[in-house]
Amino acid sequence: MKRILLIGAGHGHLVVLRSLAEKPLYGARITLVTPYAQQVYSGMLPGLLAGHYRRADTQIDVAALAERAYVEFAQGEVERLDAEGRLAILKDGRSLAYDTASLNAGSMIDASSLPGARHHALAVKPFDHFLSQLRSAERVAVVGAGAAGAEIAMALRHRGAQVTLYSGAPLQPPALGERTIPQLRRRKVDYRPGMPVTRIELGPVVIAGAARQAFDLVILATGAAPLPWLKSSGLATDERGFALVHPTLQSLSHPEVFALGDCATLRDSPHPKSGVYAVRHGELLAANLRRLFSAEPLQPYVPQKRALLLLTCGARYAIAQRGGWTAQGRALWWLKDGIDRRWVASFR
Ligand SMILES: Cc1cc2nc3c(=O)[nH]c(=O)nc-3n(C[C@H](O)[C@H](O)[C@H](O)COP(=O)(O)OP(=O)(O)OC[C@H]3O[C@@H](n4cnc5c(N)ncnc54)[C@H](O)[C@@H]3O)c2cc1C
Repeated sequence: MKRILLIGAGHGHLVVLRSLAEKPLYGARITLVTPYAQQVYSGMLPGLLAGHYRRADTQIDVAALAERAYVEFAQGEVERLDAEGRLAILKDGRSLAYDTASLNAGSMIDASSLPGARHHALAVKPFDHFLSQLRSAERVAVVGAGAAGAEIAMALRHRGAQVTLYSGAPLQPPALGERTIPQLRRRKVDYRPGMPVTRIELGPVVIAGAARQAFDLVILATGAAPLPWLKSSGLATDERGFALVHPTLQSLSHPEVFALGDCATLRDSPHPKSGVYAVRHGELLAANLRRLFSAEPLQPYVPQKRALLLLTCGARYAIAQRGGWTAQGRALWWLKDGIDRRWVASFR
């Protein structure tokens, strides 16, 4: 019997599990390896921090979903992937052999290229670790003003913290920045554009060029960096270290390995790393795994031209952006709330 190993319970693999629960794939022994049996949905994390949700509202029971999909659930974290040997080695020493593997293990926050960050700052990922270490703090610095950093800053501000948001580069895309920056100011987030943080010291103290400021808590939200074991796996990667894949989501170097979501880069049509794209990858993978087992040709991923991005502003207020179109208001928060709740409920 063929062994399929799913690594990580990212958006795409959740879609695959849901599809398998509806219609099992016979003739394969499928295992999911992921660190958390219950996991927080990233889209609802800012709302959880802002106090709009209870943790239970935001959680997906991955272990129960796997059981419904007839997939063996292996709780653990991959530390090394040997693509030649078709083996995943876990942190606890176990090793899992596969015939086909799929990687949907997301990305990480790079804490090693900012001096002091590893010891004096709290990375927003992994979310469970972030939430378990998060203490209520009066003076908070958020390093990295992408969409996630801005949302977290406004969420914590909404709960009463004094928040400083450091940004090295302008918020992308510019149309989103034009709406978000006035909201940061209106909500009294101390937004420091053009101030890349150069070091974090014991205190914690944030150093940004010549400026030094002490905080109670420093949060790192500095964008997606590749998981270190991808680079050493022997798989083809892009220059940053994300797995490089064909439009079928198969690795350029090892066609028995699929990669999707944040941990993959589509060589022919690179696109932003976000949950929206990871979901679409998952829909394709669910169909392609079935095609693989019935010896049919695999279908390619055709990226959507534009994706809807909804950015929450602490209070029940959101900004929307799709291509060049933008809007903001309370109704958009409720729209996002409905989308997110339906997403989580679809796995129950
Ligand atoms: C605060 C915040 C809010 C966001 N809001 C949105 C939003 O509203 N909309 C949107 O589209 N995007 C949003 N994003 C971006 C989005 O979270 C990521 O792009 C998305 O999660 C990537 O999905 P993924 O499927 O690649 O992996 P993820 O959803 O990150 O899942 C990765 C999975 O792999 C597991 N894993 C990690 N390491 C290992 C390992 N070594 N071995 C095994 N398993 C492992 C994890 O536990 C997890 O199950 C947000 C990001 C942040 C930080």
